[in-house]
Amino acid sequence: MIPYPDRSLVARLLDVLIPPDVQPGATDAGVLAWLDDVAADHHAQYWTTLFTPGLDALAADLAAGAELDTELVATLGGQDRRPGWTVSPATFVGTLADVAAHGYYGRRESGSWPGIGYDPAPKLPVPDVVRHVAPTESGPEALDGRYDVIVVGAGAGGGVAARVLTEAGARVLLLDRGRFLTTDAIGHDHLANHRFSAYGHNTGPARAGNPRVVADAEGEHRIDAPHDFRWHNNAMTVGGGTRVYQGMAWRFQPDDFRMASRYGVPEGSSLADWPLTYDELEPFYTRVEQEFGVCGDGSVHRFQGHRSAPYPMPAQPETAEAGVLRKGAEALGLSTGPVPLLINTEHRHGRAACVRCGQCIGFGCPVDARAGSHNTVIPLALATGLCRLVPGQFVERVLVDGSGRATGVVVDDLRTGVRREVRAGAVVLAAGAIETARLLLASATTDFPDGLGNRTGHVGRHLQGHNYERPAVEVAVCRCW
Ligand SMILES: Cc1cc2nc3c(=O)[nH]c(=O)nc-3n(C[C@H](O)[C@H](O)[C@H](O)COP(=O)(O)OP(=O)(O)OC[C@H]3O[C@@H](n4cnc5c(N)ncnc54)[C@H](O)[C@@H]3O)c2cc1C
Repeated sequence: MIPYPDRSLVARLLDVLIPPDVQPGATDAGVLAWLDDVAADHHAQYWTTLFTPGLDALAADLAAGAELDTELVATLGGQDRRPGWTVSPATFVGTLADVAAHGYYGRRESGSWPGIGYDPAPKLPVPDVVRHVAPTESGPEALDGRYDVIVVGAGAGGGVAARVLTEAGARVLLLDRGRFLTTDAIGHDHLANHRFSAYGHNTGPARAGNPRVVADAEGEHRIDAPHDFRWHNNAMTVGGGTRVYQGMAWRFQPDDFRMASRYGVPEGSSLADWPLTYDELEPFYTRVEQEFGVCGDGSVHRFQGHRSAPYPMPAQPETAEAGVLRKGAEALGLSTGPVPLLINTEHRHGRAACVRCGQCIGFGCPVDARAGSHNTVIPLALATGLCRLVPGQFVERVLVDGSGRATGVVVDDLRTGVRREVRAGAVVLAAGAIETARLLLASATTDFPDGLGNRTGHVGRHLQGHNYERPAVEVAVCRCW
């Protein structure tokens, strides 16, 4: 429940922010009821520090004769200070507008989607029988087996590693802290997923017991929400990020590998050229595009490097939105082309073609047309009989011998709490950019006190992420703290 006694004031303000027109207004669309649902878990701090003092000040303005209408709200939205207000009116109005927009546009139940032209129904016929590839999991008893290599993380990198290692005849133990989640289990909550995580995420881990530490210019902070965007919240399930990604399959351009020598190193920057070139990597790009399955048009992107093979599938047809952008780009003299996507545009490798429901990112694919490691390389690795995939296993540290060579890992079974050591001849860390670095640092020994592979002190530094736009609600709170 919202902790403000005058609910009618909140309702009136919401209906000024999102008034009824041909679409329902905010309260008719259930935004007030939704604010009740999320108040304690997600907005508690806003109510204490911003909404309650803002509403009190607004109530005083109204008692003094102000009218609660669009004009007043627009005025408040442009004011950082106002007599009688202890919080910024602009922050108050802006933040409430943001959360109202979350409740209005982010929820199917609000009925707002037709008004903005968003229709997540398939636009092409759905096959009568939809086949979802689910990798076969083994139980923790598989940890007792003998393996050449332990691969930590069954995401993009770990899946590919398991595939090529088993192809070469190695016995592989593939561990992931997450479990394989079906498309239904991942769900379609547009407010709580790995694309937009202001209200949680959809593959875990659970909020309780999974604090994170983030560091910024002001020092280290503990955050108790594992979905907090500052920790770079990727998916933790078999398939890793590929289970919920959008599936854009861009190659780097040749210059991306030599930015330092091409453009120089800005002062204070750690920019360095890659230790390999585009041409050296090209055959591997091609192999991944063929094995996962990418659709696109390899002839249109002007700055790309050479390609030794075309994309295996034709590009998606142009959408109305892409057509508008293309025309705008053409007017500016810019060329455009379809985004290469890890999405079947035709039936391929036993999986269906895309039905164009338009809600890839953050969710599972309803017809399994989108390729991830869980429905391509991991099943191929398992099919060799040389790989065991054991989910629900949290790798706590890497074990090394005196020379620094990895000999195994310490694993916590997240269901039973049993901790054990598992040995192998080599360990591949593919737990994601942040967790891999964290594991190396957490595996320090007396011989390697700064963590493994960290003679230079660079492990865990220089991450160049691609953060999605911050949920506006969090930006607003940063402003008022
Ligand atoms: C919403 C979203 C959209 C994206 N869209 C795109 C896109 O369009 N194109 C693109 O190229 N990329 C995209 N990405 C990014 C892409 O998914 C990642 O770059 C990629 O998955 C990283 O691969 P990885 O193998 O390093 O890690 P991940 O795929 O994240 O896999 C790491 C795995 O390790 C497991 N793990 C972590 N810690 C441990 C531990 N201690 N013990 C055991 N297991 C552990 C995790 O559960 C996870 O399954 C997107 C990501 C998201 C979340």
